[in-house]
Amino acid sequence: MAALKKSKSKRASGNQAKGVQCIPKTKKGKFQNRLLKWYGEFGRDLPWRRTSDPYKILVSEVMLQQTQVDRVIPKFHEFLGKYPTLQDLAESSPDDVRKTWYPLGYNIRPYRLHGIACETIERYGGAIPSKAEELLSLKGIGRYTAGAIRSFAFNEDAPILDTNVMRVLHRIFIGKGDPKKNKTDLWVLSEKLIPRGKGYDFNQALMDFGAMVCTARKPLCLVCPMKSICLTVFSDEK
Ligand code: SF4
Repeated sequence: MAALKKSKSKRASGNQAKGVQCIPKTKKGKFQNRLLKWYGEFGRDLPWRRTSDPYKILVSEVMLQQTQVDRVIPKFHEFLGKYPTLQDLAESSPDDVRKTWYPLGYNIRPYRLHGIACETIERYGGAIPSKAEELLSLKGIGRYTAGAIRSFAFNEDAPILDTNVMRVLHRIFIGKGDPKKNKTDLWVLSEKLIPRGKGYDFNQALMDFGAMVCTARKPLCLVCPMKSICLTVFSDEK
């Protein structure tokens, strides 16, 4: 990020003061339309986007935590080949699941996933619930994963906020300060911005946009469809 300089803009200071409670309607509309249009053209074709099975979506979301997509894809297929259903996963041994997980790392995840499978069988008869409070009551499912399951498996307009989404929304709508210190506002934003009935595409688009355009180290501001509404916009002036 050292090589990047933020463009100073009057837009930034003016809108920052208003906070996220009152996003101008025109900016909201432009953001939604441009993001969905961009996604229609450049969105990635990923295996977990070809299913609405909550179990498979849960597996993909846990695997994607702190792990690159290209490392997850082969393991996703292998894992589901070995444990095709939640029941299969619950009936296997936690150590076997950890071995199958190798070499994805961050090894608490296979144990958590196995625990979620067992708890879901015990409490919900094997059907992953769709309500936020029920998902959040399962040990190992946090607010992001609950939102991802609700929007990607159950087609609900549920907000998500991971590192990528946080960065995108913070740069475009807040502009200053540390995104991590604005988490509450960013959760509000991620909910308010979803176009009604389009939570699935909108959330997938946000994640792709953060991974492909508004990246942490080399954001593509010059060609970014958001640059006229973004409160950050980096210029590479070495
Ligand atoms: S202009 Fe686009 S790529 Fe650059 S910071 Fe803003 S949203 Fe990100």
